[in-house]
Amino acid sequence: MLNNLKIGVIGAGIQGVCNALFLQKKGCQVTLFDKDEPGNPSASYGNAGHFSPYASVPLNRPDVLTDIPAMLLSSSGPLALKWNYVPKMIPWFLKFMLNCSKKRMMHTAKNMHQILDVALPAYDELFDEMDINDLIEKKGIMYIWNDQNLASRELEIKIRNELGVEQQLLTSKEIHDLEPNIKPFYHGGVFYSYARHTRNPKKILLKLFDLFIKKGGKFLKINIQDLNFDDEKPILKSEGQQFFFDKIVIACGAFSKKLTDKLDEKIPLDTERGYHIHFRGCDHLLSRPVVFANRGFGITPMEQGLRVVGTVEFGGLNNPLSKSRIKNLVKNAQYMLDGLPEHEDEWLGFRPSLPDFLPIIGPSKNYKNVFYSFGHNHLGWTLGAISGKIISKMIANENTNLNLKPYSSLRFG
Ligand SMILES: Cc1cc2nc3c(=O)[nH]c(=O)nc-3n(C[C@H](O)[C@H](O)[C@H](O)COP(=O)(O)OP(=O)(O)OC[C@H]3O[C@@H](n4cnc5c(N)ncnc54)[C@H](O)[C@@H]3O)c2cc1C
Repeated sequence: MLNNLKIGVIGAGIQGVCNALFLQKKGCQVTLFDKDEPGNPSASYGNAGHFSPYASVPLNRPDVLTDIPAMLLSSSGPLALKWNYVPKMIPWFLKFMLNCSKKRMMHTAKNMHQILDVALPAYDELFDEMDINDLIEKKGIMYIWNDQNLASRELEIKIRNELGVEQQLLTSKEIHDLEPNIKPFYHGGVFYSYARHTRNPKKILLKLFDLFIKKGGKFLKINIQDLNFDDEKPILKSEGQQFFFDKIVIACGAFSKKLTDKLDEKIPLDTERGYHIHFRGCDHLLSRPVVFANRGFGITPMEQGLRVVGTVEFGGLNNPLSKSRIKNLVKNAQYMLDGLPEHEDEWLGFRPSLPDFLPIIGPSKNYKNVFYSFGHNHLGWTLGAISGKIISKMIANENTNLNLKPYSSLRFG
C-alpha cells in the first residue's frame, strides 16, 4: 500500500476519475483537478457510450488511405477538414500515413486488443461499489453495412478473427430480427453480444466522481497552467497558486499536449473532432447501439433519446462547431430510421488522438514522478478503468502481466 503518497490527477474526464479511484485503492491521497465541473461537456460526456472491448481494429490501416479522397468528397461520409487547420496538422498526417502499413496496423491492433480484452473486468472492479444498474445495458453492439467497400469489412473481420475476438456475423434477416425499425438498406453485419453501452455517460462519470469524493478524495476546480519541480517532486501551478505532490497524472484528454509540451516532450497529440445530436423520446426505436459502418456513424439509445454520433473532423481545439456536420448526422439518422422529430443538443467534442492510434499510458520520458493517461482516441470511454488500473500498478511498482512498452511516450523519441 502507498499510504500517504500525495498524488495530483489533472483532468476529471473518464481517464482522470478512473485513475483517481484506482490510486485510492492503493492507499494514495488523491487530489483531482479540472478547469470545469466534473461531467462538463468533454469527450467523456458526449461520446456514444459504447463499452467496446472488441474494437481492436485501428484507423491506421492501408485501406483507409485509399478511401480518404472519396470520404472527403462525400457529403454523407464520416470525414471532414477545417481547411484553416490543415497546415498545422500536416506533421500529424505524415506520421499517421507511416502508421498505415499492414505491419503497423497489426502492431496497433494487437496492443489495443491486449488492453481492450481486460477493459470490462477493470470497470467491474469500480462498478461493484456503485449502484449503476439502470445506467448500463448488456444487449451487445451491432454494426451493419451495405455491399460497398466490402474489402474493408472483410479486413476488419479477418483481423478480429486473428486476434481471437468473439464476433457473430449477421444476415439481413438476423439484423431485422434484432432491430426491426432500421430501414432495410443493409446487406450484412456483425454483432458483439458481450459489449455494453451506457444510457448516460455523464451520469456514470458523476457516480464515479461521487465514489471518489466519498472515499476521501479532494476536487479542485482549477485550470492547471504550468508545472515545475522541487527535487524531482512535481509542483502544479495555476494563476497565483501552487500545489505540491509526490507524483502526478496528466489525464487532460485532447488538451494534454499543452502540459506535455512544458515537459520537453514532443508528443504528436492532436484531436479528431466528433459530434452528437439527440432525437428526444425516440430511444424505443433501437434496443442497442447500431453503427452503420459505410458512413461511420452510430446511434445509441440513451436517456436523452436516440444519440446520433459520428464524424472525424480534423480542425483542432479552437475552431467552432460545423453546422454541415450536424446536417450530416441528421441526414444519416433519417437514412437509418423513419419518423424522427427535430433534433436537439448539437455537441462537438474532442477525441485525443495519436498518429499510431495507441494511447499513452505510463511515465513521462523526462520526469519519473509524472505519469500520462491520455490519447485513447475513439476508445477512451471503454479504456478508462483499465488505464487507471495500469497507472496505479505502475506507481505501486506492481506487475500488470501486460507488455506496457507499446503505450510508452518513448515511442515518439
Ligand atoms: C463523438 C465521440 C464519440 C465517442 N464514442 C466513444 C465510445 O462510444 N466508446 C469509447 O470507448 N470512446 C468513445 N469516444 C472517445 C472517448 O469519449 C474519449 O477517448 C474519452 O472520453 C477521453 O477521455 P479523457 O478523460 O482522456 O478526456 P476528456 O473527457 O476530454 O477529459 C479531459 C478533462 O481534462 C480537463 N482539462 C483539460 N486541460 C486541463 C487543465 N490544464 N487543467 C485542468 N483540467 C483540464 C477538461 O476540462 C476535461 O474535463 C468518443 C469520442 C467522441 C468525440
